Amino acid sequence: METNLARLEPVEDIRAQLHFSYSQLSTYLICPMKYGHSYVWGTPWESKPVALPFGKAVHKSAEAFYRALLNTGEIIPVDQVIETFTAVFDKETKNSELRLTMKEGETVGSLRDQGIELLRLFHTEIRPQRIAAVEFPFSVTIPDVLNGGGDLPIRLIGYLDLVERDLQNTYLVGELKTSNQKFSSVRLEHDLQATTYSYVMSRLKLATTKNSCLIRYDVLLKTKKIGFEHYFVTRSEADHQRLIHLINHVLRAIELKVFYRNSDWQCGDCQFKKACLE
Ligand code: SF4
Repeated sequence: METNLARLEPVEDIRAQLHFSYSQLSTYLICPMKYGHSYVWGTPWESKPVALPFGKAVHKSAEAFYRALLNTGEIIPVDQVIETFTAVFDKETKNSELRLTMKEGETVGSLRDQGIELLRLFHTEIRPQRIAAVEFPFSVTIPDVLNGGGDLPIRLIGYLDLVERDLQNTYLVGELKTSNQKFSSVRLEHDLQATTYSYVMSRLKLATTKNSCLIRYDVLLKTKKIGFEHYFVTRSEADHQRLIHLINHVLRAIELKVFYRNSDWQCGDCQFKKACLE
């Protein structure tokens, strides 16, 4: 099984393929017009949600922690994790030519302090089993369900933050998140990111069981009293089929240039507000 994880396609080859990612799927489902600005028309950003540099800095810090553990078996000091966070966060927020948008009551400084606090908690509590891969790039086929069989000419690509295995070489995908609230049971039941990862692991023949892979969300809670919660979810073959069906229809809609506005909470920190009104 380890051999399969080591036999990766070069990242450049993966990117050179016609591809679609979970992030693109999620953007289209949130707002097709935002998808058009982001991925079709190349509209310049008008602003930058501060949540992006925050999330990037947290992920880079966790990646440094996991990589050190994978390569040396050692847990790096907490100060090293925090150094990675502050270096990435400061670079992304101080050099930003774009206006940063944030929620009421938030400041860059308060977010920086909260990030440091969250990573202290992460460092104290996270203890992965055996790490099999960090930032594992994948590229899998998507069955064509609208044209009577075969695969689509476009592949599903992305990265898995963390793949763990136990002594029996049973795999699990770990996904680190930051969130303003605990995950509800409905979200855990339907979240498409877990379905995507379970599908990917099944296609790579690395799933926990034949047709499903265990996914663990590690959620750092940006609540008044910070917290760190872990949720385990599994998906069935039927969930995978629904995902394939959804991707096929979204790709068809994109092909037909269906880019309508979906005005709701997502407009709050959208980086294309002015362009959207034109
Ligand atoms: S402002 Fe709202 S409707 Fe317009 S693109 Fe952004 S998210 Fe979509």
